Amino acid sequence: MPGAGESGEWDHHYLVYDTGRWEDWERHATLDAIEQVIPHSEEIDFMVLSHADRDHIGGASEILGAYQVGKIIRPGKKATAFQDDLVIWEAADQAIRAEGAEVLDLSEQDVPAGTRFQFGETTLTLVSGFSVPPEEWGELQPAHSRNSPSIVIRLDFAGRSVLLTGDAIGCEHYEIDECDQTIASEKYMLDNAGSVSIKSDVIVAPHHGSISSSSPEFIASVAPEWVIFPSGHRYELPRTAAVERYIRAGVLPSRILGTDRGDHEGPKEWPQGRIEGCADVPFDDHIDIVITTEGDLAVGYSQPNPPPELSCNRMQDILNFHQATGNIATGGQPTVEQLTEIADAGYSLVLNLAMHDSDNAIPEEGNVIASLGMSYVHIPVPFEAPTSRHLQRFFRVMESFDGEKVFVHCAVNARVSAFMHRYLMLKKGATAGQATSPLLERWLPHMEEVWKAVLELELDEIEE
Ligand SMILES: [Zn+2]
Repeated sequence: MPGAGESGEWDHHYLVYDTGRWEDWERHATLDAIEQVIPHSEEIDFMVLSHADRDHIGGASEILGAYQVGKIIRPGKKATAFQDDLVIWEAADQAIRAEGAEVLDLSEQDVPAGTRFQFGETTLTLVSGFSVPPEEWGELQPAHSRNSPSIVIRLDFAGRSVLLTGDAIGCEHYEIDECDQTIASEKYMLDNAGSVSIKSDVIVAPHHGSISSSSPEFIASVAPEWVIFPSGHRYELPRTAAVERYIRAGVLPSRILGTDRGDHEGPKEWPQGRIEGCADVPFDDHIDIVITTEGDLAVGYSQPNPPPELSCNRMQDILNFHQATGNIATGGQPTVEQLTEIADAGYSLVLNLAMHDSDNAIPEEGNVIASLGMSYVHIPVPFEAPTSRHLQRFFRVMESFDGEKVFVHCAVNARVSAFMHRYLMLKKGATAGQATSPLLERWLPHMEEVWKAVLELELDEIEE
């Protein structure tokens, strides 16, 4: 965020709007991305935490630990939807209190729409932002109540403007494409637009491109030239129905950018740039918005044409695939072709917890893996009788490959999910929520007693 200083020389101002990301706990990726732009010797002038969801405040405590921050604006409301949100919220809250920054906490003070913050020649205007949804917005479903208070900021420089919208909400439904009536945050912004303009050259689209945001009326009032969707490999975002609302409003498809290039999640996701069978690789689609002092605007990817092997994760198709950390991926039994994809993705070890005679086992799996240049370790764990000895061996192998890329599989990823839960919590400091997997969550309600006992093992019982 530049501003021309009075002497005519450049001075620098830095705004951080939201700090990602729910799966960031071992990757430090948001901090890494900020470090590419902001030297540690510089102060972050203004940090905006749009709302309490962990995909928006995940990296806040790390960033506050690494940088001096001048001013912070936050909703101040605790996230209560998931236990993990609360853990991350507490970490962010503690870091904010320790920072000594000027804090505008919307649960303690009202910051009215139209409030301006000046940094050099750049103006930031609060367009919407609450601790909880105002009563006039009426009864909202729980997800809307969490998301709709999001702090929305408009940045103005040299006659150009960028609208940063967090998870602002504008439509009732998550699964119905039509949005005839604008509600909640977007209605509030529309009603206020006479005094607090939302007209912007660039919009970072609300709520990752969900159809519960970006109502046609709201888009018409913003009238953007460029649209950026902050989306990843989840929930089939951005939705085609949401993107089409922008195209119908006159935005050129070539001026619609997203942070999930190549992603192929399913039929509802906007297909532009899709690569068949490809899952988005996080953090490889940085987008630059450049405004010159003359008011010229350029928007584009930092890396316009990434090589597909770097931007496309094909391992996603492995049965019950789950990326547990940046380095550890898990799944059910991969096919020979999928083992090749694992090798191509740079993995050094395949660790197998299935029995030799499991239904989908590959004969000679060890030889196939060796021929692909990876190491192979097999710890057969009988499904009826997992023991602390199996976990002990598992922990030792994982530790000896610590820092390298490891793929762990069994037959369907059940054994692995339970073992990984213990490993991540006992050895990697993960919370229960970070250490879980979708398969483990489905399994828990009807889990066998022997496996419940595995999930209760403590470190001294495993490492004795
Ligand atoms: Zn979000």
